[in-house]
Amino acid sequence: MSEQSHFPEGARVSVLTTEPVGRPLDYRAPEGGCALGDFVEVPLGPRKVMGVVWGAGDGRFDAAKLRAVGRVLDVPPMRDELRLFLMRMAEYTMTSRAGVLRLATRTPGLFDPPGARRIYRLGAAPPARMTEAREKVLEVLRDHGGAGFYLTELAQLAGVTPQVVKGLAKTGAIDEVEQPRDLPFPRLDPALPGKDLSPDQAAAVAALRDPARDFGVTLLKGVTGSGKTEVYLEAVADCLRQGRQALVLLPEIALTSEFLTRVEARFGARPGEWHSGVTQSERRRLWRMAAEGGVQLVVGARSALFLPFRDLGLIVVDEEHDTSYKQEEGALYNARDMAVLRASFAGAQVVLASATPSLESWVNAEAGKYRRIDLAARFGASDLPEMRAIDMREERIEPQHWISPTLVGEVLARIRNGEQAMLFLNRRGYAPVTICRACGHQIGCDHCDARMVEHRFQNRLVCHQCGETKPIPTVCPNCGVEGRLAPVGPGVERLAEEVTERFPDARVAVLSSDLFGSARALKEAIGSIAQGDADIIIGTQIVAKGHNFPKLTLVGVIDADLGLQGSDLRAAERTFQLMRQVAGRAGRAEKPGLALLQSYQPEHPVIRAILSGEEEAFWREEAAQRRAQGVPPFGRMAGIILSGPDLQPLFDIGAELTRRRGPLDRIGAQIFGPAPAPIARVRGRHRVRMLIKAEKTAPLQAALAVWVRQVKLPPNVRLAIDIDPQSFL
Ligand code: ADP
Ligand code: ZN
Repeated sequence: MSEQSHFPEGARVSVLTTEPVGRPLDYRAPEGGCALGDFVEVPLGPRKVMGVVWGAGDGRFDAAKLRAVGRVLDVPPMRDELRLFLMRMAEYTMTSRAGVLRLATRTPGLFDPPGARRIYRLGAAPPARMTEAREKVLEVLRDHGGAGFYLTELAQLAGVTPQVVKGLAKTGAIDEVEQPRDLPFPRLDPALPGKDLSPDQAAAVAALRDPARDFGVTLLKGVTGSGKTEVYLEAVADCLRQGRQALVLLPEIALTSEFLTRVEARFGARPGEWHSGVTQSERRRLWRMAAEGGVQLVVGARSALFLPFRDLGLIVVDEEHDTSYKQEEGALYNARDMAVLRASFAGAQVVLASATPSLESWVNAEAGKYRRIDLAARFGASDLPEMRAIDMREERIEPQHWISPTLVGEVLARIRNGEQAMLFLNRRGYAPVTICRACGHQIGCDHCDARMVEHRFQNRLVCHQCGETKPIPTVCPNCGVEGRLAPVGPGVERLAEEVTERFPDARVAVLSSDLFGSARALKEAIGSIAQGDADIIIGTQIVAKGHNFPKLTLVGVIDADLGLQGSDLRAAERTFQLMRQVAGRAGRAEKPGLALLQSYQPEHPVIRAILSGEEEAFWREEAAQRRAQGVPPFGRMAGIILSGPDLQPLFDIGAELTRRRGPLDRIGAQIFGPAPAPIARVRGRHRVRMLIKAEKTAPLQAALAVWVRQVKLPPNVRLAIDIDPQSFL
């Protein structure tokens, strides 16, 4: 492929902007010319917008009307690697090119000259006069340690007007400083000694060391606590020794701080950090340093994948099976899959780490597309927890209670020993349903087709779809009878009530994302639990991920059957992963762990597979079933989500699409639906879904593009295409 890479003044260039115009537009190269990948400012209508020189102009546009590029911005040009990756990603995920460019440039202040912006930091003097608004600003600053904010960002985070911030600056409680030049990050030293590796770990590190130095994917499978992190940190060390940059993706912000500490212990300095909790001025610095080579290692959330690395040599996707890698809004992409794609353009290695890999990755390893390295044993003395079911059909349990006598006994034994017990229930809030005992009405969200969840802690009903809240009513909105509304079923808050009743002397901690105001508060709670400041930990999904609680020796799963209901294609896989992850929290130090799963169907094949620990057998069986059904990863799927203010037009469009199915017929694809989505209304918009199934080798995206282009959408109807859907809601 030969591509022109420099354009002299006046030459026709095509510039991609982040504006929703669809395709790159033609301009004339400015004085001094410009180069492929240059970040430029171009006129668009009456405005000036940022864009990237995407190639030679295509000449479709009238030369006389061609406008000139305004100026070339003072940042390193986008490398071919990133530009080609974005183009391929746009094609694969069927996102507009403007949409993917937005992912790669979503950093305010990016194109200001250095020093042009003012930032605000915590000052020395407390203000003479304190107001509620001022307190909020100071709280945000304290929450972020010494970080500096832009004015608008700080005001927005604190929920106050910029004047409040300015006022505080006058009193000296806040320092107003010119943006310092974006400084490189401190050097990491891969020559510092790492931990002494076990023979298994050393073998894994050696296997990861690829002399070929270019693209390759490795599935690093190891039980929780086997030292996967230690192993991939050595892969990072190798990458740094070659002078290349490394990226580690984590599924959750709460995990970063422990990881940063481990990086500092290994390499003597902290890496760059990229996620929504990082301030805009720090994000700008990291973006620039990635491009200039001033940062060697970046730890971040999925969007870190779009940083303009100068020479990316390694991407680690930790907990690669985690569903939070799938972005479900805006551009719909799976960061794990896109990491593999980017690495293929960058000539980088990929390490997918997990104790319970996704079936996709397991199958790729079986097929020899990915290399696979196993760490079979936990590091050191600790063994994997023993796992058993508690058959709930044989337990005598009072109504409105959920902890079986057997589990109560085991928890008591742990507390007496000075150990910790964890009760796991993947349901936030107090009760999932509020029902009227007079008429049977269930309280739902006004904007969504979802039941409101009672959060007693906040004393409100909350919709988990749209976030809408309302006070808990005393009168039924349906029949008007007073005092008959009752919570049905348990959430973690209700479970906490039962725990306090049964174990009145125990110290109880509830870990649920909505009980903490900030990532920092959650982090502190996790830290103090790890220190032993709780006897019983009650947790939702967030406790399943990676946190280390050395004193924890018992995990009780309140409802192991929860994920098995419903018809989700991945229900078995998800339950298997979640249960094994949660169980893996127990017994991480010397004392042995025990995991007990409360179940009404302990003979269910998935529960049996979880208990037996025969993982390979589980995956083989699951793979065989999916192959027989022709579903991912053995077939391809795409979700079509139609949404709009009225239901009927959505079905009309669905019906029209079904009538004009020719392009899909030609690739042998099947259409299911249109049908109301399981959550049929979100934020007042109705949702109708279609599901497209095709063979693995079918050119699905091309056919979909032709197919949907046939129908014209009314202005208030949106059609979203979700390639490789993970969620069917
Ligand atoms: P995983 O990522 O597989 O869950 P970690 O890498 O977090 O496992 O290791 C689990 C625990 O064992 C951590 O506390 C880690 O520091 C410790 N550990 C692992 N390998 C070693 C080693 N070679 N030397 C000392 N400690 C180790
Ligand atoms: Zn709602």
